[in-house]
Amino acid sequence: MRLANVSGRAALVSPACESFVDVEAVTGGRFGPDPQHVLDRWPDFRRATGDVGFAAAQPLSRADLLAPVPSPRQVFAIGLNYRQHAEETNSTIPQAPLVFTKFVSAIDRPDASVVHPGGSVDWEVELVVAIGLRAYQVPPAEGWAYVAGVMVGQDISERELQHSGEPPQFSLGKSYPGFGPIGPTLVTVDELECPDDLALGCLVNGQIVQQARTSEMIFSVPELISRLSHIAPLLPGDLIFTGTPAGVGMGEQPPRFLSVDDELTSYVEGIGEIRNRMVASAVHRRPDTVPNIRMAAGVNRAG
Ligand code: ZN
Repeated sequence: MRLANVSGRAALVSPACESFVDVEAVTGGRFGPDPQHVLDRWPDFRRATGDVGFAAAQPLSRADLLAPVPSPRQVFAIGLNYRQHAEETNSTIPQAPLVFTKFVSAIDRPDASVVHPGGSVDWEVELVVAIGLRAYQVPPAEGWAYVAGVMVGQDISERELQHSGEPPQFSLGKSYPGFGPIGPTLVTVDELECPDDLALGCLVNGQIVQQARTSEMIFSVPELISRLSHIAPLLPGDLIFTGTPAGVGMGEQPPRFLSVDDELTSYVEGIGEIRNRMVASAVHRRPDTVPNIRMAAGVNRAG
């Protein structure tokens, strides 16, 4: 099953992603229209929609796709979950998952244009997992049973803010508006032949910069669900950004970052791709905390 958010309404999308049926319409009002609410009753929803066909489907316009999971209660994100990415950033290999959050307001539509906030904006293609069942202290072998589906995601990151402070706190530098595009649809695990081994990658202006497989993760999806849920219960509709492979801009020699008009194309095998262009905005202002951090750093350098 491919679940989409079409203009704010939950929709089931045909296998070729060319057409859709409205969830509220095909379930006689039992589910929908809010895509997030569908996740709250996921097992019932799967049973109720198992035999929905696409004979009466409407054509799907890519421009109408919004975030398949628009308002998760919790967003977990994992740092340094691919060995070569840890190496390219001169970091030690983590012994336990390195966890931060992308604040919910950063979640955006699959093809979101992203206002460039200034600074050193970098790309991170990731497999994003959506939880379909409350998970608490789940054994590693059972992790996938708690997953509603998977998406392509970008963990867009402003490296200067991400690494400022002592010790640095990653979350704000990864939470500007548009820094968490996800989609294009939520693909259920049964649609994937090998959910633990999916090709994923990222292109900048058509040039391949990241290319890897999810089987290279240090902590696999079920392992992450087990470890996270041993501390915090995972709730239906929560997201996990599972980490990015090697090939980010800050790992290049010299480092390379995104400018206005640069376009990211991010893909995961069996799920699809998302496209995100960096745009300028005269009205966008950086939060007041940023100049304060910078000023403090400047004083230190001067003194
Ligand atoms: Zn990341």
